[in-house]
Amino acid sequence: MELLKQRILEEGVVVSNQVLKLDALLNHQVDPALTMEMGREFASRFREDGITRVVTVESSGIPVAFATAYELGVPLVFARRKKTLLADPEALCERVPSFTKGIVTDILLSKQFISENDRILFIDDIIANGDAARGLVKIIQRSGAELVGVGIVVEKSFQAGGKAIREQGIRLESLVRIVSLEDGKITFDE
Ligand code: 5GP
Repeated sequence: MELLKQRILEEGVVVSNQVLKLDALLNHQVDPALTMEMGREFASRFREDGITRVVTVESSGIPVAFATAYELGVPLVFARRKKTLLADPEALCERVPSFTKGIVTDILLSKQFISENDRILFIDDIIANGDAARGLVKIIQRSGAELVGVGIVVEKSFQAGGKAIREQGIRLESLVRIVSLEDGKITFDE
């Protein structure tokens, strides 16, 4: 998605060889017009797949997942992050390490909002090592729903997450792929 590449070049801040700060676009401030454009792009890629629900994890995945769900005309469900594991028989739960926060959090999704009849599109902002995505994939699989695909705004393809998800046989679509952040320079996969 060329428009997104342009915005990332203009507004992204390379923090290290591993981390790109995207607060101006994804993780703090949200541009509604750009976000709706991302939603349209994901929706066009999954339009023929009979998606019944879009699922994401709070908080940075919510705007783009909302835009995608709106375009597809289906509900958005966002999994919640909890710092403690509360015994809740009505929730599916996975414990995942957080790439940016350096802590472990529990991701919860109520069984009320996902069922074995669902065809799920999982949307998230960034994939790095893939821990968050792996947790969500497990929750979706345990619910009995079908995971149709994963849509990621920014795939850092020099880290293992995207490849690992695809190796599980899961369709993963990313809007932009970054192959390197070396020397403070953002390099996209053309
Ligand atoms: P993973 O679980 O794939 O290692 O990391 C995924 C989550 O960590 C993303 O949802 C994102 O919020 C955060 N994250 C990972 N890498 C980066 C990065 O380079 N920049 C920012 N801003 N967040 C990141």
